[in-house]
Amino acid sequence: MDDRNFRTGDAKTVVFGSDAMLKSSPVETIPEGPTTPEIAYQMVKDETFAQTQPRLNLATFVTTYMDEYATKLMNDAIDINYIDETEYPRIAVMSGKCINIIANLWNSPEKNTYKTGALGIGSSEACMLGGVAAWLRWRKKRQTAGLPFDKPNFVISSGFQVVWEKFSQLWQVEMRQVPLTLEKNTLDPEETLKYCDENTICVVAIEGVTWTGLNDDVEALDKALDAYNAKTGYDISIHVDAASGGFILPFLNPEVKWDFRLKWVYSINVSGHKYGLVYPGLGWVVWKDKQYLPAEMSFSVNYLGAEITQVGLNFSRPAAQILGQYYQFIRLGFQGYKEIQYNSMEVAKYLHKEIGAMQPFMNYSDDVVNPLFIWYMKPDVAKTANWTLYDLQDKLSQNGWMVPAYTLPANLESYVVMRIVVRQGFSRDMADMLLGDIRSAVEELNQLAYPTNSKIAQDKNQKIASTIFNHGSYAKK
Ligand SMILES: *Cc1c(COP(=O)(O)O)cnc(C)c1O
Repeated sequence: MDDRNFRTGDAKTVVFGSDAMLKSSPVETIPEGPTTPEIAYQMVKDETFAQTQPRLNLATFVTTYMDEYATKLMNDAIDINYIDETEYPRIAVMSGKCINIIANLWNSPEKNTYKTGALGIGSSEACMLGGVAAWLRWRKKRQTAGLPFDKPNFVISSGFQVVWEKFSQLWQVEMRQVPLTLEKNTLDPEETLKYCDENTICVVAIEGVTWTGLNDDVEALDKALDAYNAKTGYDISIHVDAASGGFILPFLNPEVKWDFRLKWVYSINVSGHKYGLVYPGLGWVVWKDKQYLPAEMSFSVNYLGAEITQVGLNFSRPAAQILGQYYQFIRLGFQGYKEIQYNSMEVAKYLHKEIGAMQPFMNYSDDVVNPLFIWYMKPDVAKTANWTLYDLQDKLSQNGWMVPAYTLPANLESYVVMRIVVRQGFSRDMADMLLGDIRSAVEELNQLAYPTNSKIAQDKNQKIASTIFNHGSYAKK
């Protein structure tokens, strides 16, 4: 090319004086030529600029604060692929050490030096692995006994996280839902048994139900299943989806039995990137003992000259989160985790108390057992107000807060609720700012002379809601 001026936007071009800043960003096709890194950086950065600040995002469970050393460690490891065990053998060892630490937090009885577990990109992958293991164990037993094994099912409360629907559909394992009601707002053990049969691969209990923040009573479930298994000859086990609770209970409620101390709990998952205090994406699954991880799930691969054994759905993945997790364990220790979780819980309880005392609202539950809670509008207020919680969500977002409003799962779907998840990085002072913003928003909304669009839409659907609001149980709350 002779045209020496074909480049536009070279190193001397001022970023916001460049031609690129007069164009829209590419949507369908790759741009013809390169752009300077300064301009490209600014364009990408600015496209996400108007979003909420992650720490004001009270919708997410996922870590939005790590200290500078953790951030540096993770950035330093950004070019390491976890799967390259031959080249980076210490990463695999570090991952094994994290699994050990977590297994021991959950009172693993396993005697092996390295406990049986796996990492995943989040709890979703970890849940899948726990579910698949339960399915294969059940199938093997059925096969050996010469019984049909084509209709597996698992039992879970209707408060399940979407991953269990994915598990059900991808592996074609029927999901049987025990409905949550206002009286039974967690999995009811006796009710659960009614959904079990010879084809039940496991019951999934949830510690930190995503919708409500509550914990299923795993100890009671274990007891009920023990009697049921003894009576029927089945051996239905429990997988605990402790995506949030797995890093709360060991520190704040060590006396509560929900983990491997219980007879039928064979596997547990947790999100390293939720209360494990690591940036996304990291999840862990641990089995009570090697015998509960079916051999078919361990893949030996001859990879780049070495035999490596891997359990997981994924192959390549960043190693940085493992360094982040191990750093947090060393940096914080048991005491440090306890202090952080305690503070999150105290701030959550404070918000719960203050919001529950506001005139239009009531809390869904009196207890706060994980650092999150939901509330809804009092039925009489909901009837007469010109606004809904969706309007409050909008108003708060004008102050930068993301506080989600949504409807509860099956059976309770006419309840619009709002949820706050408190995490490391959310202080009492920030809570006071948020409360101030909620109070002023409510005051403004109360002055509306006409119903908002969301109120009009809600009134149209009110038929179902009014049956719920008039439901006898409601009066008791
Ligand atoms: C968040 C969550 C999941 C999914 O976890 P990811 O880490 O986001 O993949 C599964 N189950 C429960 C109960 C959760 O809260």
